Amino acid sequence: MSNLIGFLTSVAVALPAAAIVYLWERGRLSRPGGPYARADFSGLIVLVALAVAWWPYLDVATQLPAILFGGAIVFLVAALADTWRRAWWLAIVGVALIAALLSYQGITVQVVNLPFSQNYIFLGWFGHVVTVLWVVICSVLFAQAASILAVPLGVAGLAAGTLFLICQLQPTITHPQAAFVAVTMCGAALVQVPFARMLSHARASAGAYTVGYLIGALSIMGALKNTAFLVALLPLIVVGVPLFAATFTYAAELRRGWRAVVFTERRGHLHDLLLRQGYSQRQVIGILLGGTVYLCLLALLLVGIIEITFVVKIIVVAGAIVFGLLFFYILLRLLPRSAGERAAHEPGQVRLLGMPLNPITLDTALDEAERFLEEDRPHMIVTPDASAVVKALQDEELREIIEDADLVPPDGAGVVLAARMLNLPVDVRCAGCDMVEQLCQAAANRNRTVYLLGGEPGIAEEAAAKLQERIAGLEIAGCQHGYFTAEEEAEIVEDIRRKRPGVLLVALGIPRQEKWIKAHLEELNVPICIGIGGSLDVISGRKMRAPVWMQRAGLEWLYRTIKEPHRLPRLVALPEIIWLSIRELLRPPDLPSEPPPGRQ
Ligand code: UDP
Repeated sequence: MSNLIGFLTSVAVALPAAAIVYLWERGRLSRPGGPYARADFSGLIVLVALAVAWWPYLDVATQLPAILFGGAIVFLVAALADTWRRAWWLAIVGVALIAALLSYQGITVQVVNLPFSQNYIFLGWFGHVVTVLWVVICSVLFAQAASILAVPLGVAGLAAGTLFLICQLQPTITHPQAAFVAVTMCGAALVQVPFARMLSHARASAGAYTVGYLIGALSIMGALKNTAFLVALLPLIVVGVPLFAATFTYAAELRRGWRAVVFTERRGHLHDLLLRQGYSQRQVIGILLGGTVYLCLLALLLVGIIEITFVVKIIVVAGAIVFGLLFFYILLRLLPRSAGERAAHEPGQVRLLGMPLNPITLDTALDEAERFLEEDRPHMIVTPDASAVVKALQDEELREIIEDADLVPPDGAGVVLAARMLNLPVDVRCAGCDMVEQLCQAAANRNRTVYLLGGEPGIAEEAAAKLQERIAGLEIAGCQHGYFTAEEEAEIVEDIRRKRPGVLLVALGIPRQEKWIKAHLEELNVPICIGIGGSLDVISGRKMRAPVWMQRAGLEWLYRTIKEPHRLPRLVALPEIIWLSIRELLRPPDLPSEPPPGRQ
């Protein structure tokens, strides 16, 4: 069995076949609303290429005809499932029966050597169960990615190439025919990727089921048999990307309960999510195949260090996966992308966890403030931080206040982080203290006064003096501490009304200040009312603001918590908003009534 001749033969067959199918399918597949129940021919091309490459050995290598025959049946059954709506179970039953047949033919998991032991465990009949499960899982994983044809083909080609290299590195623990199967499979699948990439999408998954089945069978033949426990993980690693994508997809379904996980056919796949987030199809293919290359290199590294103790190998795998996920996340943040979901928002406003947000910068805040002063009618500005967003989700009154506010700039690193995770164009936070200065500047520019309400006695006066030092021409209409009684409240409202300030700064803490402003907004008739939390304490100099580097790094919350440990419980809002954003991210898309590409 010459691996090189096998590889070249499968490439020579698959290349022109893929080109012909591409030319034939191009028009049909790019037509919106075109027939979606046609078979995807990539699996058939792989099978034909393998049949030609394996032809000289079919009578000597007894397992090859079984794999080919099984592949043809899987393709036919999956194609039937494609044409028969809602028949995904048919494809799965077909794959399971064929896998059982293969297992009976000897392509089966027989023996496993557990870590920390020299003992082999003979699996017996359980080996057949493991084999069927593994092959079914492989084909389902590949079918998940079927709507972007290049993904299952690319992953299959890369996985087969890696399994070939593993066979070369460890000939003693792999089946003698596995290398040949792997290298021919690699050629037949990879060569189709450039053509598949040019097609917009496929509306069938027969090809993906078939390549998934072939990879499942190959990995059992190549690496699972008679091997140590960790080597058994190698196939799991090389199909890590579809595995991750499927886990992600099912996790998204879990929100709807286990029935949705089992029975939902229209789900939001990882690649659909990436497309919705504005990444191009080319980028999505690059990301998913890039991830596969990374995992294949990891698998090869593990084979390279096969002699080293098991614990080290597990640490290497865990470290590489954590690093890979981190890298994947950072890459996603850095890649340029089109508007995606951003297009769904009104200009100047986005919605974060169902709440409006105006992603303004400090410069635009000044312009907005001047506009509000010019309009001379009451406006309310709310600057929610993570705790306010989380509170508002439970407090309907606060939620309505935020909904009705005239301007909602993001305050706090948690809000910015959540917005970035959800691909909202919110890049900088508008810290309360900075906002106060901008508003005072706008008031000074328009010859209007500022009223300070809140904080302990004396704080408002001290803050006012500091603001006047910094802003030339700023006039203070009045100062009032925030520890007033219900009886005093009417007098305070009257005092503000009489003095007619342009800006009212209210420092009573969230959500009290927002509710207070809302309750008196119309009668106060102040053009700009804003809740500023503890900003007066900071401006007065009683409390220090975090060093600039911490502000830039988005760590002001950490500084405030260290300085004021009683704020510790408020930190819960940070993981909470991140968790809520992840849940939002996992939310299945609102799918159209027509079945999406790749599944029915
Ligand atoms: N405060 C007040 N009256 C009250 C309760 C609080 O004036 O009845 C003031 C308090 O002195 C502090 C501010 O409101 O200056 C709240 O600050 P905190 O840091 O808790 O608010 P955050 O910025 O976190 O919303």
